[in-house]
Amino acid sequence: MRSYKQLPLNLYQIHIKFRDEARPRFGLIRAREFIMKDAYSFDRSWEDLEVSYQKMYDAYSRIFKRCGLDFVVVEAETGAIGGDVSHEFMVWADTGEDVIVFCEACGYAANRERASFKFEPRPSSEKVKEPEKVHTPNVRTIEEVSSYLGVEPSRLLKSLIYKTSDGRFVLFLLPGDRELNEAKAARAVGAEAIEMALYDEVLEIAGASPGFVGPCNLKKNVLIVADRTIEGGVNFISGANEEDYHIANLTPGVHFKVDRYADIVFAEEGDLCPKCGSPLKFSRGIEVGHIFKLGTKYSAAMNATFLDKDGKEKPFIMGCYGIGVTRIAAAAIEQRHDKDGIKWPITIAPFEVHLVATNMNDPKVREVAEGLYGEFLNKDLEVLYDDRDERAGFKFKDADLVGIPIRVTVGEHRVKEGKVEIRLRDTGETELVDVADAVSRVSEIREKLYKDLEP
Ligand SMILES: [Zn+2]
Repeated sequence: MRSYKQLPLNLYQIHIKFRDEARPRFGLIRAREFIMKDAYSFDRSWEDLEVSYQKMYDAYSRIFKRCGLDFVVVEAETGAIGGDVSHEFMVWADTGEDVIVFCEACGYAANRERASFKFEPRPSSEKVKEPEKVHTPNVRTIEEVSSYLGVEPSRLLKSLIYKTSDGRFVLFLLPGDRELNEAKAARAVGAEAIEMALYDEVLEIAGASPGFVGPCNLKKNVLIVADRTIEGGVNFISGANEEDYHIANLTPGVHFKVDRYADIVFAEEGDLCPKCGSPLKFSRGIEVGHIFKLGTKYSAAMNATFLDKDGKEKPFIMGCYGIGVTRIAAAAIEQRHDKDGIKWPITIAPFEVHLVATNMNDPKVREVAEGLYGEFLNKDLEVLYDDRDERAGFKFKDADLVGIPIRVTVGEHRVKEGKVEIRLRDTGETELVDVADAVSRVSEIREKLYKDLEP
């Protein structure tokens, strides 16, 4: 690819991948071997990338709809792959490993890694008190300090020392009842990644071990970044940077400096929606697709350029788009099953029709079943024919377990009346039809099931 005239371009592959999981989890959701669809878009400009990205976003939405999945598109962290904007396609499922933060009022949805929430700092009406050192022997965790001193965890300041990927040390301050979101914290200090400082590094910076660290009297000057929910608050308690001591009545800006306030904590259920202010809800989901605006991160680094209209060499503006193909099947099963087994959406079912002959020793049953099997095949219906020499109940149990959408039963009694039974796995609806009409009725039902999944 040399010229702008060859753009835009999309390249993709569908291939088996391997992941070195120490312990594969969640059954088929996270296996060592899986099939992925990966696509990459190449564009001349950011405006064109916008078009490519939106097309892929829409196509993915149609694909997942057609696969019969109930899903939501959420704002996501770009993580190690990088780039600025990314969306995940999440299938709602209680067994999912991701937490979806969403707002029923306005439709805002984000991965918990990414989710922000609305917060307006309100200056406290409390009087600023004088700091007071308190002896807290061997009392380290938020829970321990909170119960030892008899104060709410939200009055405590968690003081966490981190090292950025470019070698800087930062002290993050957050309320005791909140959890640091490392992705947000890294963004707040303009670092690609952050990791907790080592024990010795903490000792050197704070002069005390983790558990007694605080923002006052640090041995070394480091950047102090506080969560925005602390701004305006007074009389907090934190570690004293001295073994077995805490300090009460600390007020930011009065007793210690804060270099920057930022959103560095995870949203909690009940926090307010960043778009409309309604309470946020949490649910779990399975990620089946992830799309990224990469921009020039890789093309610039790898010197992948094209000749633009103005005669200048420029890096491709890229996007990247993945679908967990095998995961779609696993997610569909998580979402569509009952105590008896799977309820496949017809679009991805291994077969469309499950033909069950109840007694293969009955000549009439055999004749009708074999006849229908041939006719289904002629009509290009994908049919699984259970001609095993087993009891009817046994075959029905297997049919429910396997979960093929349309079951056609040729039974000894009904067939004498010239009838067969059609049953839908999803709804349990049953109808009797004349043998002569069976194929056309099954074709009709099949069309309808496909139509129901049309985007
Ligand atoms: Zn909202």
